[in-house]
Amino acid sequence: MTTWFEYLKAAHPAAAGKLTTDTVAVYETQFADVAPARMMRVAAEAVRRSKWFPSVNELRAIVAEFEEAADLAEARAWRAAAEREKQRRERAGWPVCDTCGEHTPSVEDCPFCADMAEMDMPTMYEELTEVVA
Ligand SMILES: [Zn+2]
Repeated sequence: MTTWFEYLKAAHPAAAGKLTTDTVAVYETQFADVAPARMMRVAAEAVRRSKWFPSVNELRAIVAEFEEAADLAEARAWRAAAEREKQRRERAGWPVCDTCGEHTPSVEDCPFCADMAEMDMPTMYEELTEVVA
């Protein structure tokens, strides 16, 4: 059988010795729909949670938790991408600043020019005077 089941057997050697081929077949059919890589993480989690060989029911509960977490992460990533695209489109409609060349919400009071001033970037003039001095 798959490595995740071997992992469970290795974690519970006493219980593994009592498993019949029928029982192994039950686990195999019950988790045939779950990717082996995910089942490996599920098995590792089951070993952390309980000192007993996990039942099909316990493993199913962990599979459901992992699927929910994966769905949430996917939904978050999708929302973040949609927000970035919305902001990119908004910026593309802004006028271009003559000083820094960025699309800016205000040419008169450019926040990107203000950022550079705040970072205290030395101007070319200051650098030259330092060399001369
Ligand atoms: Zn600017």
